Amino acid sequence: VNLPGKQIARFGIGIAAIVLIVFVFYLIHVNQATAGFAFLLVILVVSAAWGLRQAILLSLCATLAYNFFFLPPVGTFSISDPQNWIALLAFLVTAVIASQLSERARHQRITAEQRREELERLYSFSQQLLTTENILTLVNGIPNSVSETFGTSASAIFLPERKKVYYSDIKAQSVFSEEQLKEVAARGEPISISPGVTVVPVRVGVRSIGAFSVAGGSVSRETIDAVATLIAIAIGRANAVEGLAHSEASRESERLRSVLLDSVTHDFRTPLTSIKACAESLLADEGLGEASRIELLTIINEESDRLNRLVGEAAQMAELDSGAPELSLEPHYIREAIDSALAATKNVLAKHHVKIVADDSLPLVEMDVRRVSEVLAQLLDNAAKYSPAGTSITITSEVQNSNLITSVADQGPGIDGIDHGMIFDKFYRGQGQRSTVQGTGMGLAIAKALIEAHGGTINVTSQLGHGSVFLFSLPIQKRSA
Ligand code: ADP
Repeated sequence: VNLPGKQIARFGIGIAAIVLIVFVFYLIHVNQATAGFAFLLVILVVSAAWGLRQAILLSLCATLAYNFFFLPPVGTFSISDPQNWIALLAFLVTAVIASQLSERARHQRITAEQRREELERLYSFSQQLLTTENILTLVNGIPNSVSETFGTSASAIFLPERKKVYYSDIKAQSVFSEEQLKEVAARGEPISISPGVTVVPVRVGVRSIGAFSVAGGSVSRETIDAVATLIAIAIGRANAVEGLAHSEASRESERLRSVLLDSVTHDFRTPLTSIKACAESLLADEGLGEASRIELLTIINEESDRLNRLVGEAAQMAELDSGAPELSLEPHYIREAIDSALAATKNVLAKHHVKIVADDSLPLVEMDVRRVSEVLAQLLDNAAKYSPAGTSITITSEVQNSNLITSVADQGPGIDGIDHGMIFDKFYRGQGQRSTVQGTGMGLAIAKALIEAHGGTINVTSQLGHGSVFLFSLPIQKRSA
């Protein structure tokens, strides 16, 4: 048996205590009973602190010392009075039984301590599992957080539905093979590969949904099972959350579709009715003067433009609903987008003064120039639509940090607090404008989606009664030479 240094040292201390008792009591001449009790006390303390093995060894030594120094004839290992044999035997038996009892108490204390620690770890592990709702991140993170929380040397998890084994680190791959994990997942029965290396099924009720394995660390079987159960619950929860988000998204999309249909049927009817009415007047009445004819044709022209824009918006809205818009990004100057937006909104801007503040030194920016021009056209259109004729509209573009900020400022009514947070929402129309100005509430929502697809942001600042400034940012990529 190899006795580690610590054991020998402890034994030495026990012996020293006995020698001390012998020495002191030998000097002051106490009776046998007192000496016996003193020895017993030392043995009890030793067994409570260091365990049974130490205590038994010490009991034997104490018995010899007791016999030699305190039972007559003193100074020999022989015993003259047969009564003293009984005393000696009683001493030995008491020492051993007491040691055993206190050893058991010690053992229970240690187990309770371990249980408490494992419970604490289980709790903290369950907390970690709760913070993740994304199933992929969750499964990826489990082996690592098991290793960290329980101090195991390796851990792995296999989920048939993901067809993949997730390991805590690279060396874990040599500890458990994929086949072993697959087998446990398929059969739903735990296996023990070698001492301290266990693979258990991850079960929901009686159905096995995967396998989980740990190696190293002093984790009890119960805890491993509890961990597997926690994992099963967390995976079930993440799946449920994902399913919910999915159905939420499809419900939202369903709602959007019906609102879109409503809006389309409603908003398309007005321009169509005017066009139809003008066309009928033109067809029916030959005695129409030149001026009236031109007026009717102008209405037809404008209303078809509007119709065209509406169709465009509705189509874009449907496109955005089915995912982020596809951009064809190329380096362009913002001036190109501004010019094409101005050309597109020439008619609506006719009654306003337009000012452009854009330096020639502005950098090239990665953008889908057609989409950015659409955004600008939308902002210009709104500015013209919501501000009185004769006021001016200013387009400004400048570099701020690593963004190109472009803004459209008008001298219209501004936007009040309630509307502020909502005008970029789909189909939201301002409180005051709903009845007075024609619109659909789609324009700014589309603009926002397009700018965000570029990695930028769009905002508005406004002063009631003085006008609004809509500004959007486009990130300027530093091109590596
Ligand atoms: P629409 O113009 O079709 O109503 P938008 O999405 O373009 O839809 O705009 C949403 C709302 O934002 C408008 O109803 C209006 O209340 C407000 N708004 C947009 N631009 C301006 C502006 N330049 N001045 C004041 N209010 C504006």
